[in-house]
Amino acid sequence: MSGAGRYAPSPSGDLHLGNLRTAVLAWLFACGTGRDFLLRVEDIDTARSSRESAERQISDLVALGIDFDGEVLYQSSRFCAYESALAQLQDAGYVYECYCSRKDIREASSAPHTTPGMYPGTCRNLTEEQRALRRSQLASQGRVPALRLRSSVSSFTATDYYAGLIEAPIDDVILRRGGNASQGQDWAYNLAVVVDDAYQGIDQVVRGDDLLDQAPTQAYLASLLGLPPVEYVHVPLVLGPTGERLAKRDGAVTLRELGSASSVVRWIGESLGVAGAASLAEIRERFDPAALPREPVVWRG
Ligand code: GLU
Repeated sequence: MSGAGRYAPSPSGDLHLGNLRTAVLAWLFACGTGRDFLLRVEDIDTARSSRESAERQISDLVALGIDFDGEVLYQSSRFCAYESALAQLQDAGYVYECYCSRKDIREASSAPHTTPGMYPGTCRNLTEEQRALRRSQLASQGRVPALRLRSSVSSFTATDYYAGLIEAPIDDVILRRGGNASQGQDWAYNLAVVVDDAYQGIDQVVRGDDLLDQAPTQAYLASLLGLPPVEYVHVPLVLGPTGERLAKRDGAVTLRELGSASSVVRWIGESLGVAGAASLAEIRERFDPAALPREPVVWRG
């Protein structure tokens, strides 16, 4: 089998057990299907990302026994690629400017006939005159508009190894954030992830199931850009003792805090249905994807 899988962390802090477990799963799926395994550092959010954090994350992954093929790809080096994908969508009429603030969206979303959680469409059908006015109002505050996807479908499907065919409404998601004109472009996750998965030849995406709802939007964007669809594998998250998604507040949750790679490997193995594993190689030998527990795993400390 050719193709590749990947792990794509955002470098805004150390990886916790939930992140590490997802990384191990991504590695297991790639190795188990003969795919290359690539690492992509999702540092498009330049304000929250740091090179130091990325380096710490990579060294923790390596300490667990995960190995990667090829060079690490940093999204901060890919802005030209996002620019050309955006231009392709613009040329095909799939992009419009959005002048709304968060408050505008909140207020418009409380009107009847809007779908909760979806952009209420305020800027979708403005005339050129209205756009020019809103654009110059923003410009006078030193701001530029956001760019949104002009979705042409009400829903789209993606295929997930565990969840099967998933269908979700396609929102007019942000492709490039607006904001302070002097601060440069702020690319949105959905566009970057689709462009980079295709660029890296990734055809299987293993990640936490908090992103399951995003998969149809990403599959739709890929189709608009003429990029091949990927297979998704969304895996359950790790929860903390309170039943919330695992986080720093839950105490010692990172490899550095827990201190021992072998005990983390053992815990991850157990959570994957492989009891008593001493190494990732051993987990790899005994892991059965079909037997992966589908419920979230709880870390009790
Ligand atoms: N960078 C995202 C995160 O750390 C993951 C994105 C993805 O795997 O598609 O949550």
